[in-house]
Parts: sequence; structure tokens; C-alpha cells
Amino acid sequence: MTTFLPIPKFLSSGEVHPAMTAAEAINEANRCLYCADAACVQACPTHIDIPEFIHKISTENTTGAATTILEENFLGATCARVCPVAELCQGACVMNKMAEKPIEIGRLQRFATDHLIEQGIKPFQAGPKTGKKVLVVGSGPAGLSAAAELAKTGHEVTVWERRELAGGLSTYGIITLREPVEIAQREVDMVRELGVQIETNTALKDGEQLRDVAKHYDAVFLALGLGAVPALNIPGAEHIMDGLRYIADVKTASPQAPEFHNVVVIGAGNTAIDAATTARTQGAQATIAYRRTAAEMTAFEDEYLFAAQAGINFVFLASPAEVITTNGQVSGLRCTRMTLGPADAEGRRQAIPADEADLILPCDAVIAAIGQEKFDAETGFGLPLNAGYMDVTKELAVIATELDNVFAGGDATRITGDASTVMAVQDGKIAARSISAFLDKERDNG
Ligand SMILES: Cc1cc2nc3c(=O)[nH]c(=O)nc-3n(C[C@H](O)[C@H](O)[C@H](O)COP(=O)(O)OP(=O)(O)OC[C@H]3O[C@@H](n4cnc5c(N)ncnc54)[C@H](O)[C@@H]3O)c2cc1C
Ligand code: SF4
Repeated sequence: MTTFLPIPKFLSSGEVHPAMTAAEAINEANRCLYCADAACVQACPTHIDIPEFIHKISTENTTGAATTILEENFLGATCARVCPVAELCQGACVMNKMAEKPIEIGRLQRFATDHLIEQGIKPFQAGPKTGKKVLVVGSGPAGLSAAAELAKTGHEVTVWERRELAGGLSTYGIITLREPVEIAQREVDMVRELGVQIETNTALKDGEQLRDVAKHYDAVFLALGLGAVPALNIPGAEHIMDGLRYIADVKTASPQAPEFHNVVVIGAGNTAIDAATTARTQGAQATIAYRRTAAEMTAFEDEYLFAAQAGINFVFLASPAEVITTNGQVSGLRCTRMTLGPADAEGRRQAIPADEADLILPCDAVIAAIGQEKFDAETGFGLPLNAGYMDVTKELAVIATELDNVFAGGDATRITGDASTVMAVQDGKIAARSISAFLDKERDNG
């Protein structure tokens, strides 16, 4: 008989990490040593001046602290919630070496940026007009970050977003427990307040249209993210639900959001954890099936620990083989038992079938969360691709093509596999600088 685990309280109590009170924030800020050449600043991909903003919190200059954060990272409120801080800024905090708790940089960042949002303070304005027009395609962290920087420089910026709401995966992908939709939408509003025109339900269709808009705009920045969860090629695959769609439907309270009782999620990354956590918040039992072991999972370690606390079951060394249905309804997932073979060229041990009987996981839904689709000749807008990612020069976000005013960044270009919100924000910043330098050169030449 299946034992049904109770739903832990923290799964129904809003954001998983509580906000700091002003007293807590000042106390925590006073623990900071304000290191010169601080390691945390180098470890933050957007290089926020962390000692500076923490010092401002300690002197009760919360607006100043938030301004310092947003100068380097316009999506500071999102990053404060979603960054894997143990692997970035907090992981580099000198306190770790002194056997002390690291400074809670993420929560302090949230305290400052939430203050700005709650008070409706607008620390930045659009720069003096340059007369140049830039189109940004995609309104996720990369697109919004670039749009804000370009508007601050004085360019006229339009954003096209194919979905109903702007914000990319901050709006549709990252679960409410970590980031509510309202925070992502408030950041979208802050970008609009800089005079950026955000047109939703507006998609860039194909390579021909890209060539067309590249003639009408002085520069184009592609911040398209990646696609849906790829399809699995197993019997009964037509019954499998796309994990990203499931999370989005529940997060935006879509009437199409299904209600399940017992789900099996296939995958081992952050999307798998988020899909399983979403099912738990809906009152369902959730099991993650993965063909390797915990050591090979790609999810951030903190997320794995969080999932275990949320009562999510993990079945390792189990590779999906067939979705079982009864009277047309999903009733289970049959898995082949695996074992670990030798490491591949990247040092990752391969899963190979073990000589053991198959395993049946009973469930009423199978959800796939095995990464996102990349680009190909059909979907890649006729641009050069590298292993399914848009091929850009690392430093400059420039695409090596005859379209010299087309740039790209964010997940769509992150072939190195280190895709995350803060990386996308930094990509957007770098692209904005490259675009401004390109437009300056055009002006000087022309
Ligand atoms: C479930 C999930 C959980 C995650 N959790 C975390 C986390 O906890 N921490 C973290 O740091 N990162 C997390 N990530 C990763 C993070 O969300 C991404 O790295 C980040 O959103 C990438 O930003 P982006 O702007 O490149 O792309 P996206 O956020 O994907 O935005 C791309 C936007 O472009 C739009 N678009 C695409 N094509 C077109 C077109 N042709 N025309 C117009 N618009 C278009 C899309 O609709 C979308 O809005 C998570 C990702 C997922 C899937
Ligand atoms: S943006 Fe992320 S990595 Fe950088 S300081 Fe803030 S929480 Fe840390």
C-alpha cells in the first residue's frame, strides 16, 4: 500500500525564505567585514558592489543600498530570491574560512530591493535621447536587463514578447515559493518606467522577419531563451506532460492547470525539482525518477535538499521505458533498472541497463523535465549555431554573421551549461554595452 506523506507547512506559506525585518537586516549588515577586493563581488556574475550596499543598509540608507544593487543588476529583486547564493556570493564570503556563518547576502539584497518596490521609488531615468532605435526580442532576464541598460543610455527601446506576460522564466518558470509572479511583474514595470515599450503577444517569426527588422532598427538583441521540454521517445509518450507547461499553468493559475494526486517527474535538474515541488504544493505525492544517482544530478545542491524536505521521493538508477495506461488514463511508469558505467569524456558516469527486473512506479501523471529544446536549422532564424545554441563571441554578445547589428545573449547562447538568471542579467548588460559601442561607432563613421 502506498504511504501518502503529509504536505509540509512551508509549501503553502508563500515564499520559502522569509523577508528580513529592518532590525534583522541592520544586525546582519553589521556582521559584514566590508573587505577590500571582496571575494563576494568577484563571485557575483553581475559584480554588484556588495560591501557598499551592505554598508548602506547598516547606516539605514536602504534606498541607497537598492540603488547600488540595481546599478549593476536591474533584476536585483529576482536574483535575491533565485540565485544559488551558496555557490556564488555567499559561498565566497570570507566568513566561511573563519568557521562563521556567511553573510546572508541574498536576503539582504531582497530587503533592500523590496523596499524600493514597496515604496515605488524610481532611482533611474532614461538617458538623454541618442536618436537610435533598438529592438529587444524576448523579455526574460537577459532581454529586460539589456532593455534597462539601453534605455538608461538614451536609446529608444522596444521589446517584443511572444507570451501574454513579460518576464520570461521569472514569470512562467521559477516556482512561486521562490519567486512570486508579482515580483517579476514589478521588475517589468520598472523597465517600462524607463520609457521602454514592451509589446506582449508579439513574436519574431523567422529569419526573413529578422532580416527585415534589422533594417528598420539600428540594432536588434535576441534574448530568446530556449524552447519547450523535448519529447521522450518511449511507448505511451503521448500521455507525458511538459514540465515547464505544468509549472507555468499552476504558477499563473491558468484554468487549464491540471490537478494530480500522484506524479512521477522524469529528470534531474532544477526544472524536475520545481515540477515535483509544484505537484506537492497542489497536494499531490511526487517522485523524481532519474537514470543516474544523486551525485550526477544537475540541480543545485540546495534545491535537492529542499526537495527532500518537501517530501519528494527520489528513485535513482531508473530509466523511463513505458507510460502505462488503464482505460486511457495514466496509471504508472515502467522503468528499466540501470547501473553506472565508466565516465564519459566530460567525466560524467554513464547509465547502462542493469540485469534486473523492471520497476513500475504507480502514478496518475508522468511529467517530463529533461531540459529545454535548443535551436536547429528550422527554428534558428538562419543564424549560425553551435551545438543548438546561438553562436556568439563570448565577451561581446556579437553573432558572427553578415547582420552586424544583430546581437544575442542569455540561455539561448549559454553553451557552457551555466545558464541561470544572474548569468542572463549579465549577458544582457554586456550586450547593451556592445550595442552602445556599435551605435557610437556607426555615428562616428556616418
Ligand atoms: C523551472 C526552472 C527553474 C529555474 N530556477 C532557477 C533558479 O532557481 N535560479 C536561477 O538562477 N535560474 C533558474 N532557472 C534558469 C533561469 O530561469 C534562466 O537561466 C533565465 O530565465 C534565462 O533568461 P533568458 O532571458 O535568457 O531566457 P527566458 O527567461 O527563457 O526568456 C526568454 C523570453 O523570450 C521569449 N521569446 C522566445 N522566442 C521568442 C520570439 N520568437 N519572439 C518573441 N519572444 C520570444 C520567451 O517567451 C521568453 O519570455 C530556472 C529555469 C527553469 C526552467
Ligand atoms: S545577484 Fe545573486 S550572486 Fe550576485 S550578489 Fe546578488 S544574490 Fe549574490
